[in-house]
Amino acid sequence: MKGFTTKIVHGDRSDLIEHGSLHKPVHHSVAYGYEDARDLAAVFQGRQSGYSYGRQVNPTVGALEKKITRMESSRESICFATGMAAIGSLIFTLLRSGDHMVSSAYLFGNTNSLFNSFGRNGIGVSFVDATSVDAVREAINPSTKLVFVETIANPRTQVADLDAIGELCAERGLLYAVDNTMTSPYLFQPKDVGASLIINSLTKYIGGHGAALGGAITDTGHFDWRHFPNIDEQYRGPDTERWGLTQIRKKGLRDFGASLSPDAAHQIALGSETLALRLTRQSDNAGAMCRFLQAHSAIRRVYYPGLDNHPQHERASRLFRHFGGLFSFELDSAVDIWAFLNKLNIIVSSSNLGDNRTLAIPVAHTIYSEMGAERRASMGIDDNLIRISSGIEEPEDLIGDLTDAMSPWS
Ligand SMILES: *Cc1c(COP(=O)(O)O)cnc(C)c1O
Repeated sequence: MKGFTTKIVHGDRSDLIEHGSLHKPVHHSVAYGYEDARDLAAVFQGRQSGYSYGRQVNPTVGALEKKITRMESSRESICFATGMAAIGSLIFTLLRSGDHMVSSAYLFGNTNSLFNSFGRNGIGVSFVDATSVDAVREAINPSTKLVFVETIANPRTQVADLDAIGELCAERGLLYAVDNTMTSPYLFQPKDVGASLIINSLTKYIGGHGAALGGAITDTGHFDWRHFPNIDEQYRGPDTERWGLTQIRKKGLRDFGASLSPDAAHQIALGSETLALRLTRQSDNAGAMCRFLQAHSAIRRVYYPGLDNHPQHERASRLFRHFGGLFSFELDSAVDIWAFLNKLNIIVSSSNLGDNRTLAIPVAHTIYSEMGAERRASMGIDDNLIRISSGIEEPEDLIGDLTDAMSPWS
């Protein structure tokens, strides 16, 4: 078994090498021609592997799908134009009106908004405190088909009860979907805790440079699709392990059409080569900034799984290789949040995360503004909460920037 980075960097060569190219070439052709029309028909009917139309498969995107599958030590992956398209396709294609899902209440804001839309369209959603398996267990009812959690929740960094929920889902025969965006397969492989399906927003740590959007769904191979009632007859082929992803590819990617472009796939594949290096540095930088902020008298609280006082510190230490690049903190009410943010020079006020640059965002006023004060309060989002996504800069520059910005309140 090769190491994580070795596998990524040499992955393209383990497949068909085109012209000795060390990177998978970028293929722009939308359509593919066949000498024998019967081959075209066989590809269409799934009896033969090959390419038909770019909305469903493309060689460059396919190479990235294999890379992600390898990173997650799993069976198969499908790429999408964004992480949201991946999540939307997963729910849309696997659940039906009358079904129910249990979701962590600590969710990426747009995922929360999306699940509410599904809720209005006949799919029941219960939002629970997924840091404890008990809350998930209590919310399960006879219509429940799926449990959805994030590894480290954004922005308050709650860590879901990942392994206990995995055992519960296996016991009850439920699909277990884990959004691994915040940890990425370098820090954590959801397959190890029994996940059925893994979501990654490729826009964040895997792509890393903040230069391309993308998303992926990966099937770990743990779930037995033969027991899942919502697979259409035409997708119940001889290989039962492929039923779920075949339906997602056909009903989600092909019919909905949120396909990843070959250019974006190439950018993301390039970025992914340095995932381990970046995320190690980003985790170190996050830890250094958290220790600085925690010691400052004008900072009320710092939320980071790497800190001893984090409620799930022990769980995070046991499950994750490092504690990640994302943390948040509450300024003392005496500190003007806008004055503080505007005084930062290196750290940029911006909404992305997982970028090489360190980014800061006032949470309640931006990514969580739409959900209203009540739901924010239930999620523990204070008006003075700032989320930081650490980049790969030198740590002394970041601490210097924070020191300068805090100087009026020191
Ligand atoms: C950003 C993000 C997404 C959505 O990904 P996009 O590529 O921006 O659509 C989903 N889940 C989590 C945890 C995220 O941080």
